[in-house]
Amino acid sequence: MTLEALPDLLARARAGGYAVGYFEAWDLDSLEVMAGVAERMRSPAIVGFGGLSADGAWLDAGGIRRSALVARDVAESLSVPCVALLNEVSRVEQAEAGLDAGYNAAMLHTQGLSFDASAEVVAELVVAAHRRGAGAEGEIGEMPEEHAGVRRSGAEHLTTPEEAVAFVERTGVDCLAVAAGNAHFVVSGDRPPLRLERLAEITGAVSVPLVLHGGSGLPEHQVREAIAAGVAKVNVGTRLRQRFATAMAQLACEVGEGSDFNELVGSRKPGDMVRRALVPVADEVERLTAVLMSDGRA
Ligand SMILES: [Zn+2]
Repeated sequence: MTLEALPDLLARARAGGYAVGYFEAWDLDSLEVMAGVAERMRSPAIVGFGGLSADGAWLDAGGIRRSALVARDVAESLSVPCVALLNEVSRVEQAEAGLDAGYNAAMLHTQGLSFDASAEVVAELVVAAHRRGAGAEGEIGEMPEEHAGVRRSGAEHLTTPEEAVAFVERTGVDCLAVAAGNAHFVVSGDRPPLRLERLAEITGAVSVPLVLHGGSGLPEHQVREAIAAGVAKVNVGTRLRQRFATAMAQLACEVGEGSDFNELVGSRKPGDMVRRALVPVADEVERLTAVLMSDGRA
């Protein structure tokens, strides 16, 4: 199937009262798993890779282009509507490289920039994306981050409806990620609740669908309430990487002298370590797809 446009996919989600998950992949195998769950559950999908945790030198040395080829090919192989997203790269040129190579949506990482600096660079992204017939996501507000269990909360700034309106007007983004108590890289249940009333206020003020980053640690009932308050896309990354790494650590203990290394590594057969470690990832993506209520909507 040809790729779906990001605004169309999210407009249908808003109208249907569900959200589409962006379950961030990190390699070919994980991308195939995210796409496979969407196909099995008949869910619209947003597949892709992100620049936030990736090595910048690798991204610039061809990593973006190669990831685009993989994401586009997998996305087009699906029979459900699918967007191929290059998430959170740091520069417009990187987004352009990705869009030229096959992604049909992109987002910049603008956390830490002032409103004006962010609006300027995101407006550039929107022009670059729309010129190519692609979509662009923007973000305003400061989300806290957690690294290895340590919360960095100093930078938190909840998005206000006023700045959301001004940001959408100045940039022309197709969807807007906001800070409303959500946080990056949190997988523990120990976190403050989402500010749902703030999400509803922003939804009432802007014309584009809202996006929630930091979906990894959010309880189910809050995700459902956020969708009711106008969220049409939820990003989940850290929790999936946690599932994968934990499974790999257990599987590594089974490796010994008698192991069939050709089956273990790269065979894509049932004994493939990476494939086995992706089983709990697929389970989690299935669970989250049901929470987002996007199953059966394709
Ligand atoms: Zn994010």
